[in-house]
Amino acid sequence: MNFKSFNPPERTLLGPGPSNISPRVLSAIARPTIGHLDPEFLHMMDEIKSLLQYAFQTTNEFTMAISAPGSAGMEACFINLVEPGEKVVVCSNGVFGGRMVENVERCGGIAVVVEDDWGKAVSPAKLEEALQQNQDTKFVAFVHAETSTGALSDAEALCKIAKTHNCLTIVDTVTSLGGVPVKIDEWGVDAAYSGSQKCLSCVPGLSPITFSPAAVDKIKNRKTKAQSWFLDQSLVMSYWSGEGKRSYHHTAPVNSLYALHESLVMLHEETLEKSWERHQEQHQNLANGLASLGLEFVVPENERLPQLNTIMIPDGVDDAAVRRYLLEKYSMELGAGLGKFAGKAWRIGLMGYSAQYKNVVLCLAALKDAIENAK
Ligand SMILES: *Cc1c(COP(=O)(O)O)cnc(C)c1O
Repeated sequence: MNFKSFNPPERTLLGPGPSNISPRVLSAIARPTIGHLDPEFLHMMDEIKSLLQYAFQTTNEFTMAISAPGSAGMEACFINLVEPGEKVVVCSNGVFGGRMVENVERCGGIAVVVEDDWGKAVSPAKLEEALQQNQDTKFVAFVHAETSTGALSDAEALCKIAKTHNCLTIVDTVTSLGGVPVKIDEWGVDAAYSGSQKCLSCVPGLSPITFSPAAVDKIKNRKTKAQSWFLDQSLVMSYWSGEGKRSYHHTAPVNSLYALHESLVMLHEETLEKSWERHQEQHQNLANGLASLGLEFVVPENERLPQLNTIMIPDGVDDAAVRRYLLEKYSMELGAGLGKFAGKAWRIGLMGYSAQYKNVVLCLAALKDAIENAK
């Protein structure tokens, strides 16, 4: 066997993540590896914490990145907070809400599921009703930006309802962070997790998380140990917080964290407000172009995510053939439909570094060509 270096093709990534990564972030990951307890590295980790506090709009002391993808961030929130027998209302309107239910059950918690239609935002009225019927609920969990459908829920309204019922809130911000406003403190989010490879446009494999002081208290007062050693945040707290007192828990993914640092510096330079505006503007450009191609969105206009556009595949058009054509002719990746939308919809991501006008123009032209000519 003759093995050679792997040289991936250059792709335009317009799917549900990973998004394209800027050359700045890619060059950061190639810098020399140093020890994860090296004082220079620890200083960078402190900066990542501050930059994540900015991205999440929080002063939460417990703000860091889990050394694993968004799914591990999700799991970390549930297994640290939810104890056996505790009730969690999960608002579910897509694939990732379904995974939250699975997580609650694996923690021995009781999941009360509030279902909303796929492609719609979570209904605050239904949440209110569920909480009135379940007065012993400890947590409310929902996905802010449902990547399987492209729906954006009103996190502020949902958290407000949860707070009037004295519940802690667990919010999935994997696709929302950096792309649309996420205001952890202002909205009263107690635990949030995100992902590095969506609107942050960093390498996949890291999950920013943040816990409010109330969530940290809940973790510290657990009656039983969390069932995962690796994700037990009470063990990691001493590595991330407490300057000078860092101790070994696991080897941090040193170079990936260089990349996260660089992507967060870029977000800070651009500012959150400008990043949200950029995503909105490119979404609008895409939506205008899709309308002139006669393509229709799955999600009603006022509930759409700018960074993830789900559109119906027109009758008679071959889903797989179109995506293959785009990949072969344009080196462009669009997302396939997920779950109930498999084979019925495409998901066009305009996340982070991918959210550029030139990509919108290329996508519209390529899609028109593919729909007409792909076989
Ligand atoms: C991508 C995604 C996840 C999972 O993140 P991974 O990094 O793929 O593990 C969770 N929730 C939402 C809403 C996502 O879009």
